[in-house]
Amino acid sequence: MAMVELYRTEGRSEYLDFASYLLDQIGFTSRTSMEGHAVRAGYACCGGADLLMETGEHGTRDALDRLWEDMANRKVYVTGGIGSRYVQEAFGEPYELPNLRAYAETCAAISNAMWSWRMLCATGKCRYADMLETVLYNGFLSGVSLSGDRYFYMNPLESSGSPGDDERGHRRAEWYSCTCCPTNVQRTLASLPGYAYGIKGDSVWINLFQSSRMEGRMNSTGMTIEQMTDYPWNGKVDVAVDPDSDREFSVKVRIPSWTTGCSVSVNGEEIEGTRSGRYLSIERIWESDSKISIDMDMPIRFVEAHPRAREDFGCAAIARGPIIYCVESVDNPGIEVRNLMLPRDSKTEFEFEPDLLGGVGVVKFDALEIDDDSPLYANLNERKPELSPVRVVAIPYYAWANRGASSMLVWLPLAEFHERGKS
Ligand SMILES: [Zn+2]
Repeated sequence: MAMVELYRTEGRSEYLDFASYLLDQIGFTSRTSMEGHAVRAGYACCGGADLLMETGEHGTRDALDRLWEDMANRKVYVTGGIGSRYVQEAFGEPYELPNLRAYAETCAAISNAMWSWRMLCATGKCRYADMLETVLYNGFLSGVSLSGDRYFYMNPLESSGSPGDDERGHRRAEWYSCTCCPTNVQRTLASLPGYAYGIKGDSVWINLFQSSRMEGRMNSTGMTIEQMTDYPWNGKVDVAVDPDSDREFSVKVRIPSWTTGCSVSVNGEEIEGTRSGRYLSIERIWESDSKISIDMDMPIRFVEAHPRAREDFGCAAIARGPIIYCVESVDNPGIEVRNLMLPRDSKTEFEFEPDLLGGVGVVKFDALEIDDDSPLYANLNERKPELSPVRVVAIPYYAWANRGASSMLVWLPLAEFHERGKS
């Protein structure tokens, strides 16, 4: 990354040659899977993507495609975290994604975001922006406390709430002897404006939704783009497009893959062709004070994992928009959240709580709590668990562990596997 950045600044091709040499030393173009230290592997891919953007070299492009698919389809947590193993802070085997013992270093999530953003810049494909957003709202953001001065090194997806779980992993600390994560979080927060928008040729890209204002130049035309929205709690986004003078160009709006329906209009006129998981390209002569209205459906979703992700098998994670939810015991007094089962037809409800955790949207849902006395092993169909109906509150995963010790769970076992034994 640094060598390509030097080339961009100085214009000397030796820097590109040296970047290429460094990647050759690790056999980059022949790599087929994400292995080893997750942060360093992700950064190597960032360097490869930077080199690709400057040289268009096919071997690098092929390797990056293979490696990104390997990560996205087999080695990433639902939160966007990567690097599941404590040993060598490394990627595991395909689908090796433990929850309680997830390593998922904050810096590794950041390397995923940095790489996915570069893949977006190189290809313009929405899936990379979707991954970027997943990381930013979940596996990265969990790395910093709401107070902004405490950090996770590891980002587990399950916790007993007891320090015995590994105090370093399940409590945020002010500092670490290895200081990478706290400083990397601050750097990433400072980088967010550059991720939200992009300008290339005659196109402006809106990658992320957030109340914000972008001032930029497209060739000789200056422009501002301003978003007003309550995203991610609400899927409505109003965008004001204001070029210095009337001009033809395109505004590319990301339609996230998670939305089940989306309408877009410009100055009240409906635009056809929205598809989730694609950018919508709106080409026209833009006049000052043009208005784009985006309205994305944002239902509560139950997400399941590939069956080979064994720890998540028969489970579902709760999601809404880009946010992954978790259940934390502090919101559910009297309930051991790790005994909860999720009925497939659970009645769910979304509510914005302005006074909770700095203002978050919560999901309330019906669940069943299994009794703790059930034996460790039983013959199939002979287990007769006691299941008690309970109403449960889930909070955004990023906001967990901000109110003292409590147990936490992202993946909830589906109740059907346990109700079957009762019949
Ligand atoms: Zn780190």
